[in-house]
Amino acid sequence: MLCEVCGRSVKGRPFSVKIEGAVMRVCERCARYGEETKPVASMPKPVVHVNRNRGSMEPKPQSMGFSRKPRPPSIEELEVIENFAEVMRDQRRKYGMTQDEFGKFLFERSSLINKIETGSRVPPFNTVRKFEKKLGIKLLTRREKFDGLTTAPSTNESIRLGDVVRIRKK
Ligand SMILES: [Zn+2]
Repeated sequence: MLCEVCGRSVKGRPFSVKIEGAVMRVCERCARYGEETKPVASMPKPVVHVNRNRGSMEPKPQSMGFSRKPRPPSIEELEVIENFAEVMRDQRRKYGMTQDEFGKFLFERSSLINKIETGSRVPPFNTVRKFEKKLGIKLLTRREKFDGLTTAPSTNESIRLGDVVRIRKK
């Protein structure tokens, strides 16, 4: 056979050595350029070590998954509960208050309470949140779908609705 390094025919037994990570069958003279693979543990070559671990330097594929956290519901994904007007009226009756008293209790004008109970106005979410805390009940719910047909799509929208109602009453 021929030496894989110098190309000369190998006389006697060929040496199996590792040269820069690749195992080659070489002649006795070229054997000293590499590291013998078979015999007892010699010093491990740092070159081989680096080659084997190169893959770990690259970004791990599963690291992408960690950035996908469940988002907290944004204001756009919330809407007031379906029977908001009804629930607000029931709450007021539970407290045995007039609309005026209930308004003062919630730090809102009684006219807003009236509009809420008649269903002509849905207050902004931050106002509804205030009611939730004050009354200890849930008035906002997660929107099922985004078809734009649900009530009070945004805070601005509900203010505009209220303004329209106010203008019409003049
Ligand atoms: Zn050789």
